[in-house]
Amino acid sequence: MKINFRNSVSYLIAILYIKLGVVKRRQKKNFNEHIILSIYFHKPSKKIFESCLFWLKRQNYSFISVNDLIEISNGQQAFPKAAVLITIDDGWETNKNNIVEVANALKVPVTLFITTNPMETGEAFWWSYVKEANRLGIFSNSIEYLKTIPNRERLKYINEIKLKVNLGREALTKNELIDITNSKYISIGSHTVNHPILPMCNDDESLFEIKDSKNILENILHAKVESFAYPNGDFSLREINFLKKCGYKIAFGTAPKYLTITNIYDSFTLPRFEILEKCSLAENICRMTGVWYDIKLFKHNK
Ligand SMILES: [Zn+2]
Repeated sequence: MKINFRNSVSYLIAILYIKLGVVKRRQKKNFNEHIILSIYFHKPSKKIFESCLFWLKRQNYSFISVNDLIEISNGQQAFPKAAVLITIDDGWETNKNNIVEVANALKVPVTLFITTNPMETGEAFWWSYVKEANRLGIFSNSIEYLKTIPNRERLKYINEIKLKVNLGREALTKNELIDITNSKYISIGSHTVNHPILPMCNDDESLFEIKDSKNILENILHAKVESFAYPNGDFSLREINFLKKCGYKIAFGTAPKYLTITNIYDSFTLPRFEILEKCSLAENICRMTGVWYDIKLFKHNK
């Protein structure tokens, strides 16, 4: 855990929730009802990822893959009890050691949603350029601000920054991607080409991001790519239509809710609980079980 005010307060609240039995009671409820815990990470350390998986295993959750979820939503598999679905966004290079190795060792299915351009070019993710430019004092707009402006304008800023800021590779390479998919526990979905905020794109840009990322991944992997995660969890009806048109079967947002027997049929707006990389295991236990999202003190995603 990174020690700071936010994490320390969160840790104390999480411990209180665990000690008072709130987590236990919710677990009992979860086990009796038809719900799936849908959780996602970005670039956790091996320790964080392992500790979450060990905890889930100790609680007797069963692990399902995105493919299982597609079959459940098609009625080809029964809706499971006490199941967990794990997905990972962006395609960070550290995922290879910290996620894939652990998933293989513990025999847990995991889907990685890959942003294809950083993988193909070796460029850093766009927000890393902004962060570095902010740190150097050569650019004052925040990452959050850039998420709110038209895609063209955001790209103009990023391209200007790239002329002044040099960053190394952050994403998995193509060969690493091919290598990790040799495991039967790892499956791959798309997370666009450039990780834009899709509703801030025009029609052509949005379709390109959805369609080309699928084609690129399918050409590399020689396998169908049918799942998608919206960058930043942002989408509109247009994106859902593009995804359907391009042959995707399932898409995830970041609404912090359980997967239920009802919302699983809205296959292009599937919810997920975010697991943080720098907080305590106690907080992540509250996050994984959904208890955390009852606490109004914290700002949660849609
Ligand atoms: Zn992302």
